[in-house]
Amino acid sequence: MALDSERNTTFNKDALRLLLHNKIMPTVSLERLREIREKAKKVPDLLVSFEKYHMTREQSINNAIKHGLAWKAFMDKENLNRDERRVVLGFNTELSGHMLHYEFFLPSLELQASQEQKEKWVQKIENLEILGCYAQTELGHGSNVRGIEIEARYDEKTQEFVFHSPTITATKWWIGGLGVVSTHALLVARLIIKGQDYGPHAFVIQIRDLATHEPLPGVDVGDIGPKIGLHGNDNGYLRFEYFRQPKDSMLNRFAKINANDEYEIIDPNAMKILYLSLIRARSSLIFDAWYPITIALTISIRYSLIREQFPDPENPKKEKKILDYQIQRYKLFRMLGRLYAIICARPFIKSLYTQAEEKLNNSDVSDLAFLHCIVSLYKSYVTFNALEAIEECRRSCGGHGYMMLSGLPSLYAEYLPSVTYDGDNSILALQSARYFMSLLRKPKQMPETLEYLSENPSIPQGDAHCPIFHQKCFELAARNRFRRLVVRERALLSQGKKKDIIWNSDLQVEAIEACEAAYYASIHGYFVKSILAIQDQSIKNTFENLRQIFAASELERFNGELARAGITGETLDRIKAVQLEGFDKIRPDALGLVEIFEVDDEVLNSVIAKKNGLIYQDMLRTSKYLNPLNKERVFPGVKKQLKPKI
Ligand SMILES: Cc1cc2nc3c(=O)[nH]c(=O)nc-3n(C[C@H](O)[C@H](O)[C@H](O)COP(=O)(O)OP(=O)(O)OC[C@H]3O[C@@H](n4cnc5c(N)ncnc54)[C@H](O)[C@@H]3O)c2cc1C
Repeated sequence: MALDSERNTTFNKDALRLLLHNKIMPTVSLERLREIREKAKKVPDLLVSFEKYHMTREQSINNAIKHGLAWKAFMDKENLNRDERRVVLGFNTELSGHMLHYEFFLPSLELQASQEQKEKWVQKIENLEILGCYAQTELGHGSNVRGIEIEARYDEKTQEFVFHSPTITATKWWIGGLGVVSTHALLVARLIIKGQDYGPHAFVIQIRDLATHEPLPGVDVGDIGPKIGLHGNDNGYLRFEYFRQPKDSMLNRFAKINANDEYEIIDPNAMKILYLSLIRARSSLIFDAWYPITIALTISIRYSLIREQFPDPENPKKEKKILDYQIQRYKLFRMLGRLYAIICARPFIKSLYTQAEEKLNNSDVSDLAFLHCIVSLYKSYVTFNALEAIEECRRSCGGHGYMMLSGLPSLYAEYLPSVTYDGDNSILALQSARYFMSLLRKPKQMPETLEYLSENPSIPQGDAHCPIFHQKCFELAARNRFRRLVVRERALLSQGKKKDIIWNSDLQVEAIEACEAAYYASIHGYFVKSILAIQDQSIKNTFENLRQIFAASELERFNGELARAGITGETLDRIKAVQLEGFDKIRPDALGLVEIFEVDDEVLNSVIAKKNGLIYQDMLRTSKYLNPLNKERVFPGVKKQLKPKI
């Protein structure tokens, strides 16, 4: 095969495959993963195809429904558990309705329903007897959940809830799977009892008739229209006109309406548990971010090894592979370093989450605020990083990266909203910043990993390759930015300004800049720790090369900050040299470092990155024969409109 000579690596492939697998999917064994994948590849409806890129909105929705049903049938046939299901989900990067049903509707209901309610609903959801969505955001309110307006008024006489949209903005909006597919919704609405407003609460309600699939009387529901991507997802709107549902539609794990028709809190830890569920949803965006980056890098690195441009001055009869141009390496290998950094951080964030969850189960909430801060920080910057990586990979494929058939534009479009949903990235970063600031006010309670924030300033010294030197540089940038923020906040407060006002009007930009540095200090710290734990020397060396590229590249963001703190221009030049020499060191392993993830051609769905390296034949064939515009020798629209005029 054309690419075979590129497949030799300096590292032990089997050992690296296992090491990575244990970091990214520890709950499913590698053998089982491969077995499921091989079986799933034989089910055509589970796979994406080049036709996807030519589909209308309606065809995309039909295709998503077909995919969902195939997924369910496969799950049943192979008896897949919840973690194993996700392996098959990865075959399709679109967030389609059935995926939201299992991944958002079901876990949200399980978390908020009483035992009795779980018995009523969970099996039906598992069996796909009903299809559900998670309906929180409204036309008028997204980030500010407390501002949502749809009302759930309790009618004591009939013991029912009356759902109503009192204004235009009281319309659910953006809800995935709602537009045409869902029969039920987990609805967040304002609970009102005897005229008193208890704020947003969760309800499970039926919105479409199970026999006819028609919207029920009092329900106005539909699709919100075309979006940048996710064409197979029917993101919908929903309004109510005095729509009645039974009393048990209110999810009762935390609170209920008791026999005296009064509001009663059942679990005092309710808000904390809900808080953890939000954190869980955000964590999964951190845990899954490696996947779209891996797809983008597999496509772009393979393509860069197949694509040749301009005679090679060292061998003028041959053209040079584009991956052998320095700037192409700069584009792609920085993203490769980033991918491995994100993977190395994953187990650390996971264990923070697990520890906090265990403590919460014993009514100990002490870890929750820190976990929220770290997960918000990582959700913001990991999704930004991943999105930037996909786009960098797309651009590195030149014109062909602009073709849908390359697989890259749709990957970008599908990943794009992850910086908005499950918490807008700016808002999450600001929440982290405020937590960091609160820690700086009581340095004695500073968690060990953040102690550097309250250390005395000093200029990092050392070899420009050294992990400790790099770590000290990231920490310096974060510490100095937070210190200036503390000084600014103090000055504004002393002028008599209110804290909430300055955090809306004066400090947001610098707070986010400080958070950015804290993120890189944290993720780089985890990268260093992961490498220390690696036994196999060949893998250790490779990871160290990737870490050096990552550190030297991401430190460039803070050059101004470092220079301001006293780091000399010569030192910054030495860090730059580490980055550039890192590109040459990693080059022989480039293909191996992406193919190690075993993402199949069927999943890449890219005409420019075939495993066998034969892309041009496929490009011509696919464009010529699969393209509806080329179906007839004369395009009907030309025949009808243009021909009579020329
Ligand atoms: C593809 C997609 C799928 C979705 N699926 C679902 C779903 O299934 N269910 C569901 O309930 N929702 C869903 N959503 C909605 C999503 O959760 C919201 O879009 C998100 O919470 C952000 O809210 P918003 O769009 O109202 O933005 P806004 O909150 O209006 O934010 C707009 C801008 O204002 C800024 N801003 C707002 N407040 C502040 C502040 N206090 N300080 C600084 N800046 C601020 C934000 O940073 C942002 O730049 C989906 C959204 C998308 C794009």
